[in-house]
Amino acid sequence: MATLQLSNITKRFGDTEVIKGIDLEVNDREFVVFVGPSGCGKSTLMRMIAGLESASEGDIVIDGQRMNDVGPADRGLAMVFQSYALYPHMTVEGNMGFSMRLAGVPKEERRAKVLEAAKILQLEPLLDRKPKALSGGQRQRVAIGRAIVRNPSIFLFDEPLSNLDAALRVQMRIELARLHEELDATMIYVTHDQIEAMTMADKIVVLHDGVVEQVGSPMALYHHPRNRFVAGFIGSPK
Ligand code: ADP
Ligand code: MG
Repeated sequence: MATLQLSNITKRFGDTEVIKGIDLEVNDREFVVFVGPSGCGKSTLMRMIAGLESASEGDIVIDGQRMNDVGPADRGLAMVFQSYALYPHMTVEGNMGFSMRLAGVPKEERRAKVLEAAKILQLEPLLDRKPKALSGGQRQRVAIGRAIVRNPSIFLFDEPLSNLDAALRVQMRIELARLHEELDATMIYVTHDQIEAMTMADKIVVLHDGVVEQVGSPMALYHHPRNRFVAGFIGSPK
């Protein structure tokens, strides 16, 4: 059974249909990349999966449970955005433990979970710092740490690296791949960057104007693009 199933997911803003009946399955522990040009609907689709936006039509099923009317905190997901606003007055530890504090998790248990995530992300020496004393890459790691402590069944990343410089982006790509191995988690990753998609994905979903153009492995898309749009976007010679 797929971890995530989308059936006929549609989103209208007023008269404008921006997501046009998407069907999709994401399997357990898969690293799936949604790729497509700016404005094609990637963030809208992610926000619907996360429960931050309701679908106009269609069903979202996670681990066999229909989620349409389930709030974002109860979907078993964690989302990392492009602008990962950290709380400036809280330390790294405070930021990472905040959702657990809201959920009433006792202090010692919070600390243990934060330490575990900090170890994975190499943030242990920085736990007492405030965000303003961190580099861009370190802040990004804290945002990922906030997601890890929630033990989500699915991680959602929406262009999490686009504010970082090129060298750091490459490094973070490698770290995310390692994280995927280490956590054994399902990850959905949004980017408009073909190179990120080709290097990170088990499965790529090419989006264009609110529809899925093609789904496949990086190699399948490269060698057998279904149409000119996919070929042009993925960079294969067809
Ligand atoms: P992407 O993330 O791929 O760049 P988005 O999902 O942000 O694309 O946007 C898809 C389309 O939906 C765009 O045309 C955008 O202008 C439109 N859109 C997104 N959010 C809203 C909204 N709240 N109200 C009206 N239109 C929106
Ligand atoms: Mg977007």
